[in-house]
Amino acid sequence: MAVLRIRTFGDPVLRQKAPETGPVDELHRKLTGDMIDTMREAPGVGLAGPQVGVLERIFVWEVEGEHGAVINPVILERSRETVTEEEGCLSLPGLYYPVERAARVVMEGIDETGAPVRFEAEDLLARVCQHEIDHLDGILFIDRLPDGLRKDALTRLRTEALGLPAPPLDRHPAEDML
Ligand code: ZN
Repeated sequence: MAVLRIRTFGDPVLRQKAPETGPVDELHRKLTGDMIDTMREAPGVGLAGPQVGVLERIFVWEVEGEHGAVINPVILERSRETVTEEEGCLSLPGLYYPVERAARVVMEGIDETGAPVRFEAEDLLARVCQHEIDHLDGILFIDRLPDGLRKDALTRLRTEALGLPAPPLDRHPAEDML
């Protein structure tokens, strides 16, 4: 097991769409283990392949003491009801903004042993699934913000990239990072 380097905003791998992952083998089991270690070390509640530089459709999650890995995840259903809550991302450290997501999703895929998985997720796990699947498509949570907040986020990112002090946060950071 190993802790991998988490790619941050500006790394082109975060903007690529990961192709469907092929047959699951020993390498995927090792990758899954390393990704769980990396997520816990961060700490975070979810981590997707592209965030560690691996263009595979795979993500790991850990919510309320349970954890798992999903390969080739597909959202089959999303609730019409949505929830808007503060979200963060391990690839965008220090940024937290409210993001609207479906309250519940039904998702299926396979696990690191190749076995099919299908579950209904709600609350934080539903948010994690949607956030991580976005990563597999090269989408970051700031892309889902209304225009004003997205501009604010991009200003902060540019300021940090130039090594200038970031403007003070006007909200309490959430603890959960995805
Ligand atoms: Zn993220």
